Amino acid sequence: MNERFQLIINGEYRNSSSDQWFDAENPFDGECWAHVPRCNAEDVSYAVNAAKQAFESGEWPTLSATQRGALLIKAGQLIRQRAERLATLETKDTGKRFAESLPQMTGIADWFDYYGGLADKVQGQVIPSNPELVVNYTIHEPLGVVAAITPWNSPIMIAVWKIAPALAAGNTVIVKPSEHASTSTLALMEVFRDAGFPSGVVNVITGFPTECGQALVTHPDVAKVTFTGSDNGGRIINTQAAESFKRVTMELGGKSPQLIFEDATLENAVHGVISGIFLSNGQTCVAGSRVYLQSSIREQFLNCLRDKIQNLKMGDPFDAETRIGPIANTMQFERIKGFLEETIASGATCIAGGKVAQGDNLGRGHFIEPTIFADVDPTSRVACEEVFGPVLTVFEFDTEDQALELANNTPYGLAAGVWTSNIPRAMRLSRKIRSGTVYINTYRAVNVASPVGGYKKSGFGRENGIEAIYEYLQTKSIWLGTQDVVPNPLT
Ligand code: NAD
Repeated sequence: MNERFQLIINGEYRNSSSDQWFDAENPFDGECWAHVPRCNAEDVSYAVNAAKQAFESGEWPTLSATQRGALLIKAGQLIRQRAERLATLETKDTGKRFAESLPQMTGIADWFDYYGGLADKVQGQVIPSNPELVVNYTIHEPLGVVAAITPWNSPIMIAVWKIAPALAAGNTVIVKPSEHASTSTLALMEVFRDAGFPSGVVNVITGFPTECGQALVTHPDVAKVTFTGSDNGGRIINTQAAESFKRVTMELGGKSPQLIFEDATLENAVHGVISGIFLSNGQTCVAGSRVYLQSSIREQFLNCLRDKIQNLKMGDPFDAETRIGPIANTMQFERIKGFLEETIASGATCIAGGKVAQGDNLGRGHFIEPTIFADVDPTSRVACEEVFGPVLTVFEFDTEDQALELANNTPYGLAAGVWTSNIPRAMRLSRKIRSGTVYINTYRAVNVASPVGGYKKSGFGRENGIEAIYEYLQTKSIWLGTQDVVPNPLT
Protein backbone atom coordinates (compact mmCIF):
# COMPACT_ATOMS: atom_id res chain seq x y z
CA MET A 1 0.00 0.00 0.00
CA ASN A 2 1.55 3.29 -1.09
CA GLU A 3 2.02 6.05 1.43
CA ARG A 4 -0.51 8.90 1.24
CA PHE A 5 0.89 12.29 2.12
CA GLN A 6 -1.34 15.03 3.45
CA LEU A 7 -1.28 18.79 3.31
CA ILE A 8 -0.70 20.85 6.45
CA ILE A 9 -2.80 24.02 6.33
CA ASN A 10 -3.61 26.08 9.39
CA GLY A 11 -1.74 23.55 11.51
CA GLU A 12 -4.02 20.68 10.48
CA TYR A 13 -3.54 17.67 8.25
CA ARG A 14 -5.90 17.77 5.27
CA ASN A 15 -6.60 16.11 1.97
CA SER A 16 -7.37 18.25 -1.06
CA SER A 17 -10.95 19.54 -1.17
CA SER A 18 -11.70 17.34 -4.18
CA ASP A 19 -10.09 14.34 -2.45
CA GLN A 20 -8.06 13.76 -5.60
CA TRP A 21 -4.44 12.59 -5.60
CA PHE A 22 -1.55 12.34 -7.99
CA ASP A 23 1.29 9.84 -8.05
CA ALA A 24 4.83 10.27 -6.80
CA GLU A 25 7.06 8.21 -9.06
CA ASN A 26 10.41 6.81 -7.95
CA PRO A 27 12.79 7.66 -10.81
CA PHE A 28 15.02 4.66 -10.09
CA ASP A 29 12.43 1.91 -10.48
CA GLY A 30 9.74 3.86 -12.30
CA GLU A 31 7.19 2.77 -9.67
CA CYS A 32 4.53 4.92 -8.07
CA TRP A 33 5.45 4.85 -4.37
CA ALA A 34 3.23 7.55 -2.84
CA HIS A 35 0.18 9.70 -3.47
CA VAL A 36 0.06 13.46 -3.12
CA PRO A 37 -3.02 15.71 -2.72
CA ARG A 38 -4.10 17.32 -5.97
CA CYS A 39 -5.09 20.87 -5.00
CA ASN A 40 -7.22 23.31 -6.93
CA ALA A 41 -8.27 26.94 -6.52
CA GLU A 42 -10.51 26.06 -3.56
CA ASP A 43 -7.54 24.63 -1.63
CA VAL A 44 -5.48 27.65 -2.58
CA SER A 45 -8.13 30.00 -1.17
CA TYR A 46 -8.32 27.95 2.00
CA ALA A 47 -4.55 28.13 2.48
CA VAL A 48 -4.34 31.84 1.64
CA ASN A 49 -7.14 32.63 4.10
CA ALA A 50 -5.35 30.67 6.82
CA ALA A 51 -2.07 32.47 6.11
CA LYS A 52 -3.81 35.86 5.97
CA GLN A 53 -5.54 35.27 9.30
CA ALA A 54 -2.29 34.15 10.88
CA PHE A 55 -0.56 37.29 9.58
CA GLU A 56 -3.22 39.68 10.81
CA SER A 57 -4.39 38.19 14.10
CA GLY A 58 -3.58 35.58 16.70
CA GLU A 59 -0.16 34.97 18.17
CA TRP A 60 2.24 35.47 15.22
CA PRO A 61 1.99 39.27 14.85
CA THR A 62 2.36 39.70 18.62
CA LEU A 63 5.68 37.84 18.82
CA SER A 64 8.83 39.89 19.14
CA ALA A 65 11.47 39.45 16.46
CA THR A 66 13.58 37.60 19.04
CA GLN A 67 10.75 35.16 19.69
CA ARG A 68 10.29 34.58 15.97
CA GLY A 69 14.01 33.92 15.71
CA ALA A 70 13.84 31.37 18.53
CA LEU A 71 11.13 29.44 16.65
CA LEU A 72 13.30 29.39 13.54
CA ILE A 73 16.27 28.06 15.49
CA LYS A 74 14.04 25.33 16.93
CA ALA A 75 12.96 24.38 13.40
CA GLY A 76 16.63 24.05 12.44
CA GLN A 77 17.22 21.67 15.36
CA LEU A 78 14.30 19.49 14.27
CA ILE A 79 15.58 19.39 10.70
CA ARG A 80 18.94 18.10 11.94
CA GLN A 81 17.12 15.38 13.90
CA ARG A 82 14.95 14.43 10.92
CA ALA A 83 17.59 14.82 8.24
CA GLU A 84 17.64 11.14 7.39
CA ARG A 85 13.90 10.89 6.82
CA LEU A 86 13.80 14.09 4.79
CA ALA A 87 16.80 13.01 2.69
CA THR A 88 15.19 9.60 2.09
CA LEU A 89 12.02 11.21 0.77
CA GLU A 90 13.98 13.57 -1.42
CA THR A 91 16.05 10.75 -2.92
CA LYS A 92 12.92 8.68 -3.56
CA ASP A 93 11.27 11.65 -5.24
CA THR A 94 14.17 13.03 -7.28
CA GLY A 95 16.69 10.19 -7.70
CA LYS A 96 19.38 12.44 -6.24
CA ARG A 97 21.99 10.22 -4.60
CA PHE A 98 21.39 9.79 -0.88
CA ALA A 99 25.07 10.69 -0.44
CA GLU A 100 24.15 14.16 -1.79
CA SER A 101 20.70 14.49 -0.20
CA LEU A 102 21.76 13.78 3.38
CA PRO A 103 24.43 16.50 3.73
CA GLN A 104 22.05 18.90 2.01
CA MET A 105 19.45 18.27 4.74
CA THR A 106 21.84 18.67 7.66
CA GLY A 107 23.38 21.73 6.01
CA ILE A 108 20.03 23.40 5.44
CA ALA A 109 19.48 23.67 9.20
CA ASP A 110 22.11 26.44 9.14
CA TRP A 111 19.60 28.64 7.30
CA PHE A 112 17.33 28.58 10.35
CA ASP A 113 20.19 29.46 12.70
CA TYR A 114 21.26 32.31 10.45
CA TYR A 115 17.84 33.86 9.82
CA GLY A 116 16.72 33.06 13.37
CA GLY A 117 19.68 35.11 14.57
CA LEU A 118 19.05 37.85 12.01
CA ALA A 119 15.35 38.30 12.86
CA ASP A 120 15.98 40.83 15.66
CA LYS A 121 18.86 42.62 13.96
CA VAL A 122 16.81 44.32 11.27
CA GLN A 123 16.88 47.97 12.25
CA GLY A 124 15.35 51.11 10.87
CA GLN A 125 17.11 54.47 10.71
CA VAL A 126 16.64 57.89 12.17
CA ILE A 127 16.72 60.24 9.17
CA PRO A 128 18.54 63.53 9.62
CA SER A 129 15.94 66.31 9.62
CA ASN A 130 15.21 69.53 11.50
CA PRO A 131 14.55 68.41 15.10
CA GLU A 132 12.74 71.68 15.82
CA LEU A 133 10.06 70.53 13.37
CA VAL A 134 10.02 66.77 13.12
CA VAL A 135 11.67 63.50 14.01
CA ASN A 136 11.69 61.10 11.06
CA TYR A 137 12.56 57.44 11.27
CA THR A 138 12.05 54.25 9.27
CA ILE A 139 10.91 50.79 10.25
CA HIS A 140 10.84 47.58 8.19
CA GLU A 141 7.56 45.72 8.09
CA PRO A 142 6.64 42.31 6.66
CA LEU A 143 4.66 42.11 3.43
CA GLY A 144 1.94 39.62 4.37
CA VAL A 145 1.27 36.28 2.71
CA VAL A 146 4.27 35.01 0.72
CA ALA A 147 3.82 32.32 -1.95
CA ALA A 148 6.98 30.24 -2.37
CA ILE A 149 6.95 28.19 -5.60
CA THR A 150 9.76 25.67 -5.97
CA PRO A 151 11.18 23.28 -8.61
CA TRP A 152 11.87 19.55 -8.40
CA ASN A 153 15.65 19.43 -8.28
CA SER A 154 16.35 20.29 -4.61
CA PRO A 155 12.89 20.82 -3.14
CA ILE A 156 13.71 21.31 0.54
CA MET A 157 16.84 23.38 0.09
CA ILE A 158 15.14 25.78 -2.26
CA ALA A 159 12.01 26.01 -0.10
CA VAL A 160 14.10 26.78 2.99
CA TRP A 161 16.04 29.52 1.17
CA LYS A 162 12.64 31.23 0.88
CA ILE A 163 10.83 30.20 4.06
CA ALA A 164 13.58 31.08 6.56
CA PRO A 165 14.05 34.77 5.58
CA ALA A 166 10.31 35.23 4.94
CA LEU A 167 9.44 34.02 8.46
CA ALA A 168 12.31 35.88 10.10
CA ALA A 169 10.82 39.04 8.56
CA GLY A 170 7.41 38.23 10.09
CA ASN A 171 5.47 37.09 7.01
CA THR A 172 3.32 34.00 6.69
CA VAL A 173 4.07 31.50 3.94
CA ILE A 174 2.41 29.09 1.55
CA VAL A 175 4.79 26.71 -0.19
CA LYS A 176 3.95 25.05 -3.49
CA PRO A 177 6.50 22.38 -4.41
CA SER A 178 6.83 20.90 -7.88
CA GLU A 179 4.30 18.29 -8.95
CA HIS A 180 7.34 16.12 -9.77
CA ALA A 181 8.71 16.08 -6.19
CA SER A 182 6.30 17.09 -3.43
CA THR A 183 6.73 14.59 -0.61
CA SER A 184 9.80 16.00 1.13
CA THR A 185 8.20 19.45 1.31
CA LEU A 186 5.05 17.92 2.80
CA ALA A 187 7.20 16.23 5.45
CA LEU A 188 9.10 19.47 6.06
CA MET A 189 5.83 21.12 7.11
CA GLU A 190 5.70 18.89 10.19
CA VAL A 191 8.90 20.55 11.36
CA PHE A 192 7.19 23.95 11.60
CA ARG A 193 4.18 22.55 13.39
CA ASP A 194 6.35 20.64 15.87
CA ALA A 195 8.67 23.60 16.43
CA GLY A 196 5.64 25.51 17.74
CA PHE A 197 4.91 27.97 14.94
CA PRO A 198 1.35 29.25 15.34
CA SER A 199 -1.24 27.66 13.03
CA GLY A 200 -1.42 29.16 9.57
CA VAL A 201 2.09 30.65 9.62
CA VAL A 202 3.53 27.98 7.29
CA ASN A 203 1.21 26.09 4.93
CA VAL A 204 1.62 23.86 1.91
CA ILE A 205 -0.41 23.13 -1.20
CA THR A 206 0.52 20.60 -3.87
CA GLY A 207 -0.55 20.26 -7.46
CA PHE A 208 -0.12 21.31 -11.06
CA PRO A 209 0.83 24.69 -12.52
CA THR A 210 -2.51 25.74 -13.99
CA GLU A 211 -5.05 24.36 -11.53
CA CYS A 212 -3.02 25.07 -8.38
CA GLY A 213 0.04 27.28 -9.01
CA GLN A 214 -1.77 29.86 -11.08
CA ALA A 215 -4.54 30.24 -8.50
CA LEU A 216 -1.86 30.99 -5.91
CA VAL A 217 -0.01 33.53 -8.04
CA THR A 218 -3.20 35.40 -8.93
CA HIS A 219 -4.84 35.30 -5.49
CA PRO A 220 -5.48 38.90 -4.39
CA ASP A 221 -4.36 38.25 -0.80
CA VAL A 222 -0.90 37.01 -1.77
CA ALA A 223 1.54 39.90 -1.31
CA LYS A 224 4.66 38.36 -2.80
CA VAL A 225 5.64 35.47 -5.05
CA THR A 226 9.12 34.05 -4.67
CA PHE A 227 9.76 31.63 -7.51
CA THR A 228 12.55 29.26 -8.43
CA GLY A 229 12.17 27.39 -11.67
CA SER A 230 12.43 27.55 -15.42
CA ASP A 231 12.50 30.80 -17.35
CA ASN A 232 9.26 29.76 -19.06
CA GLY A 233 7.46 29.29 -15.75
CA GLY A 234 9.03 32.48 -14.47
CA ARG A 235 7.86 34.53 -17.45
CA ILE A 236 4.24 33.43 -16.99
CA ILE A 237 4.28 33.90 -13.22
CA ASN A 238 5.96 37.29 -13.43
CA THR A 239 3.36 38.47 -15.94
CA GLN A 240 0.47 37.19 -13.84
CA ALA A 241 1.86 38.66 -10.63
CA ALA A 242 2.27 42.03 -12.33
CA GLU A 243 -1.51 42.20 -12.92
CA SER A 244 -2.03 42.70 -9.21
CA PHE A 245 1.29 44.51 -8.53
CA LYS A 246 2.71 41.68 -6.44
CA ARG A 247 6.34 41.74 -5.50
CA VAL A 248 8.34 39.00 -7.16
CA THR A 249 11.69 37.28 -6.76
CA MET A 250 12.80 35.20 -9.74
CA GLU A 251 15.51 32.53 -9.48
CA LEU A 252 15.66 31.07 -12.96
CA GLY A 253 17.84 28.91 -15.14
CA GLY A 254 21.39 29.29 -16.39
CA LYS A 255 23.93 28.32 -19.02
CA SER A 256 26.96 28.89 -16.88
CA PRO A 257 30.44 29.03 -18.44
CA GLN A 258 33.68 27.69 -16.97
CA LEU A 259 36.86 29.27 -18.37
CA ILE A 260 39.99 27.12 -18.06
CA PHE A 261 43.33 28.85 -18.71
CA GLU A 262 46.55 27.01 -19.49
CA ASP A 263 48.09 28.19 -16.21
CA ALA A 264 45.35 26.53 -14.12
CA THR A 265 46.11 23.49 -12.00
CA LEU A 266 44.68 21.06 -14.48
CA GLU A 267 43.38 18.37 -12.17
CA ASN A 268 41.66 20.92 -9.92
CA ALA A 269 39.95 22.39 -12.94
CA VAL A 270 38.84 18.94 -14.11
CA HIS A 271 37.33 18.30 -10.69
CA GLY A 272 35.63 21.69 -10.81
CA VAL A 273 34.10 20.86 -14.18
CA ILE A 274 32.88 17.48 -12.89
CA SER A 275 31.35 19.19 -9.88
CA GLY A 276 29.77 21.78 -12.16
CA ILE A 277 28.03 19.49 -14.62
CA PHE A 278 27.88 15.93 -13.31
CA LEU A 279 26.87 16.33 -9.65
CA SER A 280 23.13 15.71 -9.34
CA ASN A 281 23.30 14.73 -13.00
CA GLY A 282 23.61 18.34 -14.06
CA GLN A 283 20.13 19.03 -12.72
CA THR A 284 21.22 22.09 -10.82
CA CYS A 285 20.68 25.73 -11.65
CA VAL A 286 24.40 26.60 -11.50
CA ALA A 287 25.41 23.67 -13.74
CA GLY A 288 28.62 24.67 -15.51
CA SER A 289 27.36 23.44 -18.86
CA ARG A 290 29.68 25.42 -21.19
CA VAL A 291 33.41 24.83 -20.80
CA TYR A 292 35.93 27.04 -22.62
CA LEU A 293 39.46 25.64 -22.79
CA GLN A 294 42.55 27.57 -23.77
CA SER A 295 43.56 25.85 -27.02
CA SER A 296 46.98 24.69 -25.76
CA ILE A 297 45.45 22.44 -23.07
CA ARG A 298 42.46 21.11 -24.96
CA GLU A 299 43.63 17.53 -25.54
CA GLN A 300 45.26 17.07 -22.16
CA PHE A 301 42.22 18.46 -20.33
CA LEU A 302 39.67 16.41 -22.25
CA ASN A 303 41.65 13.19 -21.83
CA CYS A 304 41.84 13.72 -18.08
CA LEU A 305 38.12 14.63 -17.84
CA ARG A 306 37.06 11.66 -19.97
CA ASP A 307 39.14 9.26 -17.87
CA LYS A 308 37.48 10.46 -14.70
CA ILE A 309 33.89 10.20 -15.87
CA GLN A 310 34.01 6.94 -17.75
CA ASN A 311 32.98 3.76 -16.00
CA LEU A 312 31.40 5.55 -13.06
CA LYS A 313 28.96 3.28 -11.28
CA MET A 314 25.38 4.12 -12.21
CA GLY A 315 22.48 2.76 -10.26
CA ASP A 316 20.40 2.90 -7.13
CA PRO A 317 20.72 6.36 -5.58
CA PHE A 318 20.57 4.77 -2.11
CA ASP A 319 23.65 2.62 -2.83
CA ALA A 320 26.73 4.31 -1.35
CA GLU A 321 28.82 3.02 -4.27
CA THR A 322 26.62 4.71 -6.88
CA ARG A 323 28.20 7.75 -8.49
CA ILE A 324 25.48 8.56 -11.03
CA GLY A 325 21.79 8.19 -10.20
CA PRO A 326 18.78 8.39 -12.49
CA ILE A 327 17.37 11.51 -14.13
CA ALA A 328 14.67 12.91 -11.84
CA ASN A 329 11.58 12.32 -13.94
CA THR A 330 10.31 11.10 -17.30
CA MET A 331 9.67 14.58 -18.65
CA GLN A 332 13.26 15.64 -17.98
CA PHE A 333 14.66 12.37 -19.31
CA GLU A 334 12.82 12.84 -22.60
CA ARG A 335 13.99 16.43 -22.82
CA ILE A 336 17.66 15.50 -22.31
CA LYS A 337 17.35 12.64 -24.80
CA GLY A 338 16.07 15.14 -27.36
CA PHE A 339 19.18 17.29 -26.87
CA LEU A 340 21.46 14.25 -27.28
CA GLU A 341 19.77 13.06 -30.46
CA GLU A 342 19.77 16.43 -32.14
CA THR A 343 23.39 17.21 -31.17
CA ILE A 344 24.64 13.88 -32.52
CA ALA A 345 22.60 14.34 -35.70
CA SER A 346 24.20 17.77 -36.16
CA GLY A 347 27.65 16.16 -36.53
CA ALA A 348 29.14 17.34 -33.23
CA THR A 349 31.97 15.23 -31.78
CA CYS A 350 30.85 13.08 -28.87
CA ILE A 351 33.85 12.81 -26.54
CA ALA A 352 32.04 10.81 -23.88
CA GLY A 353 28.56 9.40 -23.27
CA GLY A 354 25.90 10.70 -25.60
CA LYS A 355 23.44 7.88 -24.95
CA VAL A 356 20.79 6.54 -22.66
CA ALA A 357 22.61 4.19 -20.28
CA GLN A 358 21.54 0.58 -20.04
CA GLY A 359 22.47 -2.18 -17.63
CA ASP A 360 21.16 -4.82 -15.27
CA ASN A 361 21.48 -2.66 -12.19
CA LEU A 362 19.64 0.30 -13.66
CA GLY A 363 16.17 -0.83 -12.67
CA ARG A 364 13.52 0.73 -14.88
CA GLY A 365 15.08 4.10 -14.25
CA HIS A 366 15.98 6.84 -16.64
CA PHE A 367 19.77 6.92 -16.89
CA ILE A 368 21.82 9.14 -19.17
CA GLU A 369 25.56 8.69 -19.59
CA PRO A 370 27.68 11.66 -18.51
CA THR A 371 28.15 13.38 -21.85
CA ILE A 372 30.76 15.68 -23.38
CA PHE A 373 30.28 17.24 -26.82
CA ALA A 374 32.89 19.20 -28.78
CA ASP A 375 32.79 20.85 -32.22
CA VAL A 376 29.29 22.03 -31.45
CA ASP A 377 27.62 24.77 -33.49
CA PRO A 378 27.75 27.69 -31.03
CA THR A 379 24.29 28.80 -32.15
CA SER A 380 22.70 25.37 -31.62
CA ARG A 381 20.18 24.64 -28.87
CA VAL A 382 22.61 22.52 -26.87
CA ALA A 383 25.12 25.37 -26.84
CA CYS A 384 22.62 28.09 -25.97
CA GLU A 385 19.76 26.60 -23.96
CA GLU A 386 19.69 25.11 -20.50
CA VAL A 387 19.69 21.30 -20.79
CA PHE A 388 19.42 20.67 -17.04
CA GLY A 389 21.15 17.32 -17.42
CA PRO A 390 24.65 15.74 -17.52
CA VAL A 391 25.54 17.26 -20.88
CA LEU A 392 28.64 19.40 -21.31
CA THR A 393 29.60 21.36 -24.42
CA VAL A 394 33.29 22.21 -24.84
CA PHE A 395 34.74 25.11 -26.85
CA GLU A 396 38.18 26.70 -27.25
CA PHE A 397 39.67 30.15 -26.89
CA ASP A 398 43.11 31.71 -27.34
CA THR A 399 43.06 35.02 -25.47
CA GLU A 400 41.54 36.36 -22.26
CA ASP A 401 39.41 38.85 -24.22
CA GLN A 402 38.03 36.05 -26.34
CA ALA A 403 37.24 33.97 -23.26
CA LEU A 404 35.36 36.86 -21.71
CA GLU A 405 33.36 37.53 -24.84
CA LEU A 406 32.38 33.86 -25.13
CA ALA A 407 31.45 33.62 -21.46
CA ASN A 408 29.14 36.63 -21.70
CA ASN A 409 27.61 35.58 -25.01
CA THR A 410 24.42 34.21 -23.42
CA PRO A 411 21.10 35.62 -22.32
CA TYR A 412 21.67 33.95 -18.92
CA GLY A 413 23.78 35.16 -16.01
CA LEU A 414 23.58 32.85 -13.02
CA ALA A 415 27.13 31.62 -12.37
CA ALA A 416 30.57 31.28 -13.94
CA GLY A 417 33.87 29.57 -13.13
CA VAL A 418 37.39 30.85 -13.81
CA TRP A 419 40.40 28.52 -13.45
CA THR A 420 43.78 30.23 -13.54
CA SER A 421 46.81 30.80 -11.35
CA ASN A 422 46.98 34.41 -12.57
CA ILE A 423 45.15 36.24 -9.79
CA PRO A 424 45.02 39.70 -11.43
CA ARG A 425 43.40 38.03 -14.45
CA ALA A 426 40.93 36.19 -12.21
CA MET A 427 39.99 39.45 -10.50
CA ARG A 428 39.61 41.26 -13.85
CA LEU A 429 37.35 38.55 -15.20
CA SER A 430 35.29 38.27 -12.04
CA ARG A 431 34.31 41.92 -12.43
CA LYS A 432 33.60 41.70 -16.16
CA ILE A 433 31.60 38.48 -16.25
CA ARG A 434 27.88 39.28 -16.20
CA SER A 435 26.58 36.76 -13.67
CA GLY A 436 25.33 36.76 -10.10
CA THR A 437 28.08 34.40 -8.90
CA VAL A 438 31.68 33.98 -10.06
CA TYR A 439 33.77 31.12 -8.71
CA ILE A 440 37.57 31.34 -8.98
CA ASN A 441 39.49 28.06 -8.73
CA THR A 442 36.46 26.43 -7.13
CA TYR A 443 32.88 25.71 -8.15
CA ARG A 444 29.51 25.25 -6.47
CA ALA A 445 30.50 26.76 -3.10
CA VAL A 446 27.44 27.83 -1.12
CA ASN A 447 27.00 29.50 2.24
CA VAL A 448 23.88 30.85 3.91
CA ALA A 449 25.63 34.20 4.39
CA SER A 450 26.45 34.69 0.70
CA PRO A 451 23.80 36.12 -1.67
CA VAL A 452 22.70 34.07 -4.67
CA GLY A 453 20.78 35.26 -7.71
CA GLY A 454 20.75 35.98 -11.38
CA TYR A 455 21.82 38.63 -13.84
CA LYS A 456 19.96 38.99 -17.12
CA LYS A 457 17.51 36.17 -17.95
CA SER A 458 18.56 34.19 -14.86
CA GLY A 459 16.27 36.32 -12.74
CA PHE A 460 16.26 39.07 -10.16
CA GLY A 461 16.21 39.44 -6.41
CA ARG A 462 18.64 37.67 -4.10
CA GLU A 463 18.41 34.68 -1.79
CA ASN A 464 20.71 34.07 1.17
CA GLY A 465 22.77 36.57 3.08
CA ILE A 466 21.50 39.61 4.92
CA GLU A 467 19.99 41.13 1.81
CA ALA A 468 17.54 38.26 1.34
CA ILE A 469 15.54 39.32 4.39
CA TYR A 470 14.85 42.67 2.72
CA GLU A 471 13.16 40.82 -0.13
CA TYR A 472 10.43 40.10 2.41
CA LEU A 473 10.20 43.52 4.08
CA GLN A 474 8.90 46.93 3.13
CA THR A 475 10.11 50.22 4.53
CA LYS A 476 7.83 52.65 6.31
CA SER A 477 8.84 56.24 7.01
CA ILE A 478 7.35 57.71 10.21
CA TRP A 479 7.24 61.45 10.91
CA LEU A 480 6.69 62.80 14.41
CA GLY A 481 5.96 66.53 14.70
CA THR A 482 7.91 68.22 17.52
CA GLN A 483 6.37 71.68 17.40
CA ASP A 484 4.13 72.80 20.25
CA VAL A 485 2.19 74.85 17.75
CA VAL A 486 1.61 73.68 14.18
CA PRO A 487 1.25 76.86 12.07
CA ASN A 488 -1.57 77.32 9.59
CA PRO A 489 0.15 76.77 6.21
CA LEU A 490 -2.13 79.32 4.49
CA THR A 491 -1.20 82.29 6.63
P1 NAD B 1 9.20 24.87 -13.67
O1 NAD B 1 9.23 26.31 -14.02
O2 NAD B 1 8.58 23.93 -14.63
O3 NAD B 1 8.36 24.67 -12.31
C1 NAD B 1 8.77 25.25 -11.09
C2 NAD B 1 7.56 25.38 -10.17
O4 NAD B 1 6.67 26.34 -10.72
C3 NAD B 1 6.75 24.11 -10.00
O5 NAD B 1 6.26 24.07 -8.67
C4 NAD B 1 5.60 24.30 -10.98
O6 NAD B 1 4.44 23.59 -10.63
C5 NAD B 1 5.39 25.79 -10.87
N1 NAD B 1 4.82 26.43 -12.06
C6 NAD B 1 5.25 26.28 -13.34
N2 NAD B 1 4.50 27.06 -14.15
C7 NAD B 1 3.63 27.72 -13.36
C8 NAD B 1 2.59 28.68 -13.61
N3 NAD B 1 2.32 29.12 -14.83
N4 NAD B 1 1.89 29.18 -12.55
C9 NAD B 1 2.19 28.75 -11.31
N5 NAD B 1 3.11 27.83 -11.01
C10 NAD B 1 3.84 27.32 -12.03
O7 NAD B 1 10.68 24.45 -13.31
P2 NAD B 1 11.23 22.97 -12.96
O8 NAD B 1 11.31 22.20 -14.23
O9 NAD B 1 10.48 22.41 -11.80
O10 NAD B 1 12.70 23.31 -12.42
C11 NAD B 1 13.83 23.35 -13.21
C12 NAD B 1 14.23 24.80 -13.44
O11 NAD B 1 14.48 25.44 -12.20
C13 NAD B 1 15.51 24.92 -14.23
O12 NAD B 1 15.34 25.89 -15.23
C14 NAD B 1 16.52 25.39 -13.20
O13 NAD B 1 17.59 26.13 -13.69
C15 NAD B 1 15.67 26.21 -12.30
N6 NAD B 1 16.32 26.38 -10.98
C16 NAD B 1 16.84 27.61 -10.66
C17 NAD B 1 17.51 27.79 -9.43
C18 NAD B 1 18.08 29.13 -9.04
O14 NAD B 1 18.38 29.34 -7.87
N7 NAD B 1 18.24 30.06 -9.96
C19 NAD B 1 17.63 26.71 -8.55
C20 NAD B 1 17.10 25.47 -8.93
C21 NAD B 1 16.43 25.32 -10.15
